[in-house]
Amino acid sequence: LTLSGNSSGLHVVHIAAEMAPVAKVGGLADVVAGLGKALQTKGHLVEIILPKYDCMQLDQITNLKVLDVVIKSYFDGNLFSNNVWTGTVEGLPVYFIEPQHPSKFFWRAQYYGEHDDFKRYSYFSRAALELLYQSGKKIDIIHCHDWQTAFVAPLYWDIYATRGFNSARICFTCHNFEYQGTAPAPDLSYCGLDVERLDRADRMQDNAHGRINVAKGGIVYSNIVTTGGHGLQDTLKMHSRKFVGILNGIDTETWNPSTDRFLAVQYSATDLQGKAANKTFLRKQLGLNTEDTSQPLVACITRLVPQKGLHLIRHAIYKTAELGGQFVLLGSSPVPHIQREFEGVADQLQKNNNIRIILKYDEALSHCIYAASDMFIIPSMFEPCGLTQMIAMRYGSVPIVRKTGGLSDSVFDFDDEKIPVELRNGFTFARTDEQDLSSCLERAFSYYSRKPMVWKQLVQKDMQIDFGWDSPASQYEDLYQSAVAQARGVT
Ligand code: ADP
Repeated sequence: LTLSGNSSGLHVVHIAAEMAPVAKVGGLADVVAGLGKALQTKGHLVEIILPKYDCMQLDQITNLKVLDVVIKSYFDGNLFSNNVWTGTVEGLPVYFIEPQHPSKFFWRAQYYGEHDDFKRYSYFSRAALELLYQSGKKIDIIHCHDWQTAFVAPLYWDIYATRGFNSARICFTCHNFEYQGTAPAPDLSYCGLDVERLDRADRMQDNAHGRINVAKGGIVYSNIVTTGGHGLQDTLKMHSRKFVGILNGIDTETWNPSTDRFLAVQYSATDLQGKAANKTFLRKQLGLNTEDTSQPLVACITRLVPQKGLHLIRHAIYKTAELGGQFVLLGSSPVPHIQREFEGVADQLQKNNNIRIILKYDEALSHCIYAASDMFIIPSMFEPCGLTQMIAMRYGSVPIVRKTGGLSDSVFDFDDEKIPVELRNGFTFARTDEQDLSSCLERAFSYYSRKPMVWKQLVQKDMQIDFGWDSPASQYEDLYQSAVAQARGVT
């Protein structure tokens, strides 16, 4: 074995269920694209493998074409063909796997929330590895994300490494331990994993429910694990040597108010006129009252799921109206009763010219709302990292957040004297009751209306904070390098 001693570029493959902007549901998509781009900029060869969803944004892919080869992969006792498409997304080479399986796994007109998600993603994980195996590439790092592709870790070590495809080390990032991918143990065998071997407390058996837990398998079978929590603490503790918490970044090219093509007017920290113009434009576009220019615009852009603090989001809408502000909610829910509940709130407030509730996923509108808003509310019950607070700050919308997880690592209260002044960048509250949020909003409103110069400086400061991927990507790079070095026996 010859080793190249220096830290030359690595070959990194991300296997994921989402990537911005082609297939985005939430923050996972932003991370795959943002981290991938940052690693590519640092000189690594980065490739991405995604399912070929029927509902993808095809216009975001350049040079999309189907390869001549068909990859056959195992599922539930049979081999199935997969068409493999290639294309470029955000400058990154992407492979899209299109299974020729009668269940039409990725022809469902939505990304998640299907009754057979466990099967869909175990199929995809196996097919993605099969593609890499058959390509004969010598890959250094396979990076899988969330439970949907955590199958990759045990599949790699139990099935592929023994076939000589063993150059890679596995990195597993769990963006949200709320979703762990559990199922009855026998379901693990669909993708070819050995249930008897893996249904054990120290392997893939769920720590509480006697089911099989794929996120746990990701932790146990990976060389590197990043971020964490939620019921798997014991497993994480056991594997703490390989476990690291890294705060995500945001893609500062996609999220840049001075070049953002979705905005009515581009702007920067030194030219806030443009931000005001976006506010006027959005208020008109959404039919909000435009007479009173002193009203602050409060925004919330989120998946509507319990994690995000639904009762507090609802409360923030009413409280903002009571304080004389305006509120825009852009949200969509994968949970039908939650979607209906917010449709009810929207109906009730339809005639209120200070409130707009828009219940859909809309990338372009999200950019306009970040730019137009003065304040951005994130009252999450828990938040593994959270990206919207960082995007909001970059667009000069001051975050008002509940102190939890990644939110308390990135937002520091303007009035908290225990925190150095230069770090104070927003407003925070601790409790999950309405009262704590109300007083936090009142404090923010008070600065906004009584101390406009202080507010303006806060906006400018927030816009200049560096939330880019450069530093988090360097941390990933170090982890990758040391896992690779360890594998080659040079540490
Ligand atoms: P999560 O991953 O839990 O959804 P994050 O804060 O990490 O939360 O990431 C959310 C991402 O999804 C952000 O880029 C945000 O702008 C985007 N987003 C959420 N809901 C919507 C929506 N309804 N329309 C457009 N973008 C949305």
